[in-house]
Amino acid sequence: MGTKDIEVIKKCGGDAKAVVAELNKAFSDEWLAYYQYWIGSKIAEGLMRPDVQKELMEHAGEELEHAGKVADRIISLGGTPVIEPKDWYKFTNCGYDAPKDPSTVELLKQNIKGEQCAIEVYKKLAEFCHKKDSVTVHLAHSIMRDEVEHEQDLQDLQKDISYLKK
Ligand code: FE
Ligand code: FE
Ligand code: MG
Repeated sequence: MGTKDIEVIKKCGGDAKAVVAELNKAFSDEWLAYYQYWIGSKIAEGLMRPDVQKELMEHAGEELEHAGKVADRIISLGGTPVIEPKDWYKFTNCGYDAPKDPSTVELLKQNIKGEQCAIEVYKKLAEFCHKKDSVTVHLAHSIMRDEVEHEQDLQDLQKDISYLKK
């Protein structure tokens, strides 16, 4: 158990429970992002379909990894990751944008918006934990780096598609 972590946070004037609450929001975001990518990859159609499908499926896998890392941190802090999927909607920061239009252009737009929200979430989490919980700060920065890369990958595809439309 992470009693040591909890002690350190306390000593630094922080509250492990409050950190767990923020982590569970991010955890809910990650699962919803995972599914949004996964189902988007399955139903995608239109311009550059194979490339977009491949990238979306890769990102789905990476969001699932993020969920795993966030869950591990929650457990280290003596918390429990959200165990009821319907609660993801209750805790999420970024929500779920159902891909009702399966065109690659629309999917990219939706997922870029999601990544921009995720970057903001981890930036705020790092700030929230600053000088109180350096392990969570480190985790937030490392996930944020992935989210920035995700946004860039999607914007690159968007740019390539714009050439096709000319
Ligand atoms: Fe993520
Ligand atoms: Fe992402
Ligand atoms: Mg990628």
